[in-house]
Amino acid sequence: MTTAVLMSILIFIWLAVVGACIGSFLNVVIYRLPAGKSIVSPPSSCPKCGKRIRWFHNLPVLGWLLLRGRCYDCKAPIAARYPLVELLVGGAFFVLGLSVFSQSNGPPQSLFEYQPWAAFVGLAGLFCCLLAALLIRYDGHRIPRGIWLATALFAATLVASAWVP
Ligand SMILES: [Zn+2]
Repeated sequence: MTTAVLMSILIFIWLAVVGACIGSFLNVVIYRLPAGKSIVSPPSSCPKCGKRIRWFHNLPVLGWLLLRGRCYDCKAPIAARYPLVELLVGGAFFVLGLSVFSQSNGPPQSLFEYQPWAAFVGLAGLFCCLLAALLIRYDGHRIPRGIWLATALFAATLVASAWVP
């Protein structure tokens, strides 16, 4: 295996990890935004006992597995939806990365171009907005203005990517 191929595989795995972290953030957005709470503070805590969640239990997917789906402090069950959202977004980033960057055989040269990155950010962002909107609706809330705004922004990025050199 050449270094270039190995590097591109590492980049796609890295994209999946970034996606899982963004999925983790999306869980916070889905939960807090319709309730009108801040999405940046305070740090996550258990909705049952209020104890702050330790950083290593907050790792995407792994944290939930480590805890076997229960709060470390009060053992209240943590919905499987949280790691599923993280997995889904991680998987989407991996697949979108592959499809945007590997248009030719061999290592994707496009990894070093701006155009596919702009397209990737637009597509990945739209995927996240759609997923957040669906789950917020599923929870019985109105889709918050912030989600519409982000959708418009990512759609504009995707369209603009056609003109990026
Ligand atoms: Zn708890």
